[in-house]
Amino acid sequence: LVEIHNVHKSYGGLEVLSGIDLTVQPGEVVAILGPSGSGKSTLLRTINHLESVDRGSVTVDGQLIGYERRGDRLYELREKEILKRRTQVGIVFQNFNLFPHLTAVENVTEAPVATGLREKDAARSLALSLLERVGLGDKAEHFPRQLSGGQQQRVAIARALALSPKVLLFDEPTSALDPELVGEVLDVIRDLARSGTTLIIVTHEIGFAREVADRIVFVDGGRILEQGPPERVLVDPEHPRTREFLAKVL
Ligand code: ATP
Ligand code: MG
Repeated sequence: LVEIHNVHKSYGGLEVLSGIDLTVQPGEVVAILGPSGSGKSTLLRTINHLESVDRGSVTVDGQLIGYERRGDRLYELREKEILKRRTQVGIVFQNFNLFPHLTAVENVTEAPVATGLREKDAARSLALSLLERVGLGDKAEHFPRQLSGGQQQRVAIARALALSPKVLLFDEPTSALDPELVGEVLDVIRDLARSGTTLIIVTHEIGFAREVADRIVFVDGGRILEQGPPERVLVDPEHPRTREFLAKVL
């Protein structure tokens, strides 16, 4: 479903992604682990073209993200076309990033209407059912400031789902939350995983990764150093850097 091929990305002289290859199957749940600064967020952001790539390509369901191919070269698409293809890839950030002046239901309604995917009424009823699904049916008319961090993050998940993305990306979705609010967000992600949604999750919650992920990918220095099933990578890592990392976080 998602094919990342030889992706390179530098900021100034600093190479942050040094040739990433990763294929994710439909329904698969992939957890990305790695030290701070290893390029995890940058990698996620290239998957929906919040970051351009210097080399390589990302395709989702056979469609190039951010670029079109002409001959043997890739050219960046126009803004409008980028936005259209980006709807295939939902993303949930660490800091929720809700629109502060919109209610929960308005936050979830905004994108499907703005992109022309749905009429206002249809978008609203979808939004209400998604809020129900993340356990916030009774908070639809609340503004973000009237919601806890965990509730805000669940609104953000509903908002990402509203565009019916083919894959959903999470960038440390619980790391800005008070510990007692982490569970409610992980519960929602766990339900998505069980329902067959394709997920790529950057997380420091190793226990959660072990439980929900089909595959663990360990990234360091902009490269994938190893990957495999959780019970292998987390219990018996092959690479010394993975061992070192796990020894620190477990
Ligand atoms: P963390 O676990 O702390 O979130 P990360 O693995 O997500 O780290 P990235 O955010 O992808 O790491 O950053 C990788 C490197 O790229 C870091 O050295 C960072 O300083 C640098 N970097 C990221 N974004 C930019 C940017 N917009 N401009 C310049 N440098 C950047
Ligand atoms: Mg990050």
